Amino acid sequence: MYTDLSKESLQKLYRHCKDEYGQYKAGGLALDMSRGKPGADQLDLSMALFNALDPSDYKAGDGTDCRNYGGIDGIPEMKKLFADLMEVRPEEVLVGANASLALMYESVVAYILRGSKGKRKFLCPSPGYDRHFAITEYLGVEMIPIAMTPSGPNMDEVRKYIADPAVAGMWCVPVFSNPQGVVYSDEVIREIAALKPAAEDFRILWDNAYIVHSFEGAPPKVLNLLRECEAQGNGDMALMFTSFSKISFPGAGVSAMAASPSNLAKMRNHLSVQTIGPDKLNQLRHVRFFKDAQGVLEHMKKHGEVLRPKFNIVLDTLDTKLKGKGIGTWLKPKGGYFVAFDSLPGCAKRIVKLCAEAGLILTTAGAAYPHGNDPQDSNIRIAPTFPSLKQLKQAMELFCVAVELAALEKLLNE
Ligand code: PLP
Repeated sequence: MYTDLSKESLQKLYRHCKDEYGQYKAGGLALDMSRGKPGADQLDLSMALFNALDPSDYKAGDGTDCRNYGGIDGIPEMKKLFADLMEVRPEEVLVGANASLALMYESVVAYILRGSKGKRKFLCPSPGYDRHFAITEYLGVEMIPIAMTPSGPNMDEVRKYIADPAVAGMWCVPVFSNPQGVVYSDEVIREIAALKPAAEDFRILWDNAYIVHSFEGAPPKVLNLLRECEAQGNGDMALMFTSFSKISFPGAGVSAMAASPSNLAKMRNHLSVQTIGPDKLNQLRHVRFFKDAQGVLEHMKKHGEVLRPKFNIVLDTLDTKLKGKGIGTWLKPKGGYFVAFDSLPGCAKRIVKLCAEAGLILTTAGAAYPHGNDPQDSNIRIAPTFPSLKQLKQAMELFCVAVELAALEKLLNE
């Protein structure tokens, strides 16, 4: 533990670490690991999508001509595929355009803001997904950070805040959360479904972006929020989302939401003001290529094979270089796209800066908190999917040196 060392020992370590850092700086690394993008090797897995339709194949199972306008809800076979993935009924699914984030944005507008007067607030389990927080910030919804635990949001905090009628919703990533890779426990999901918020229009935005994104074993079995909320007599509280962004091609995938009949009617109405309908040819292409939910699971095993060695590099390097030094903590996810690292308080910005000066761009420190404000300045999101194995190894070694250097600077200044 570095905190147990004398000033002299820390000084010695500091000089050594500074030399090492200088070598990395001179090494000319140039790598952007700021976003969780799939690597080209993952994108290659879906190339057959390009040929999944031929010019005679443009009709959906119900005879819909997918070349033409219409079908705000999606074609039946795409609804069925999403229903099987999300474990709901096809009539509970609305298929969106290329990005689930757009459906989430529209949900905040349609369910939370439209027709409501006065201040609206959202609960934001943190660290969380920066683009969720960007939506609520942009739309003028006040954000309340909620602490994350290894089994989901701290429910005592959640219960405290929902007594305020201005608190109208909560962001959740229940499976392999961004950035920690946390999977919500059954107990937490039951507690979420049993909430009795003061706001009648309170909604849980249940972002299942990583629903089948396991790189160790089968995807986790978690309780279905819609069914649990229904059992509590509050089926309208659950809005569930997912997409093919990290299954096929980000930006060229298909998104969906699953919700109660009255929620879906509201969203259909809301969307039909801004679009005559989504890209049904892309839906048909996805159905032809993946066939069914089993096809998606098989495909995701291939993604898992590509990602496992990358996550192993991150976790092994952290273990080898930092374990036992008392200068950082991290969880070991079994899926998703990130590893979240917590440095000593007050060091995250410094670590990200040190890495940037040596050619490694990480996600901005604090990005996983509302307004980019990590009160501890300790959380850093590591996104291992995009670089090659070789680049990642170099990047992680540099990262660990930066963590040590920042920690030693802090300990020597105390
Ligand atoms: N939700 C989470 C938790 C994510 O991490 C991401 C992408 O990183 C998205 C949603 C984006 O999904 P989409 O491309 O469907 O908008």
